[in-house]
Amino acid sequence: MNTPKRIQLAYLPTPLQQLSFQNKKFVVKRDDLSGLEMSGNKVRKLEYILYQAKKMNSDVIFTCGGEQSNHARATAVACAKLGLTCRLFLWGSNKKSTEGNLFFDKLSGCKITFLDKAEYAKVNEIMFEERKKLLKHGKNVYVIPEGGSTTLGIWGYISFIEELGKQIPLQNFSGILTAAGSGGTAAGLLIGSSIMGLNLKIYAVNVLYSKLTIQNKVLRLAEACNLEYKLNASIDPANLVVLDGYSNEGYKEISMDKIKLIKNLFMQTGILLDPAYTGKAFNAYYDHFLGKRKEQVIFLHTGGLFGVFAKSKKYLSA
Ligand SMILES: *Cc1c(COP(=O)(O)O)cnc(C)c1O
Repeated sequence: MNTPKRIQLAYLPTPLQQLSFQNKKFVVKRDDLSGLEMSGNKVRKLEYILYQAKKMNSDVIFTCGGEQSNHARATAVACAKLGLTCRLFLWGSNKKSTEGNLFFDKLSGCKITFLDKAEYAKVNEIMFEERKKLLKHGKNVYVIPEGGSTTLGIWGYISFIEELGKQIPLQNFSGILTAAGSGGTAAGLLIGSSIMGLNLKIYAVNVLYSKLTIQNKVLRLAEACNLEYKLNASIDPANLVVLDGYSNEGYKEISMDKIKLIKNLFMQTGILLDPAYTGKAFNAYYDHFLGKRKEQVIFLHTGGLFGVFAKSKKYLSA
């Protein structure tokens, strides 16, 4: 196997915990604890991506996401640490806001371009055009697509399965549940599980794209990675199960009933889930798996705490 190289940014292995909620036990993999300023699932992907960017002598990094993007924040902080110039293209208009992830973006000194929804739909073209301009000035620009979900970035979650397998016997579990935004985390988990000869179901809670769109994104990305790195993994599409309907309020919103469950979990475990990803994922986990004996599913906590601060009033009123 042709495993790509990485740079160390995350604190690994992340802890695996047995928790109890409403007297029901469940297992959580704490990828929210992969770091602090640089934390969450995106750091695993950035370890591979930024290694390559450095290797290619890039001096400017472009990436994109929502205005509370955890990926954009982790990239901005990692770039500061590595001495790379960072430019973010964010979907939002919160020019004056300094809440949550945006605080870190601004503090890191990176350049931020805010785009409205229509513009953001063309963000890849916009980044490409801006890159062309900088190339003329002799700059070497590396573009990281949304969520760092590239055939290289998802190695973060291919290697994750091996790490998890050293912590707990995975044959005792039927699956892993994760929130899915750009789909790279789920894609990496699918490949990793297949390479390790496991038959885990990957439960993906789509928070941004429709069920069909995320299914296609995840499977295409997994197959592309499989081919590019000659992994010979036999990826069974049936092992990807999208649990749909947990983000009907929209990516940037969260319903009050979901916040109530988040708050209850916080009161009983001390773990606070975010409004965009993990809060929605846990609502799905609660409905489908919590306390059900026949299906033992690991909850993957992918991070996102800073997103809470953009919604703190709503959390307090729940
Ligand atoms: C980005 C993100 C996800 C989704 O990961 P993808 O690989 O984009 O699907 C889940 N949770 C959090 C906290 C994230 O920031």
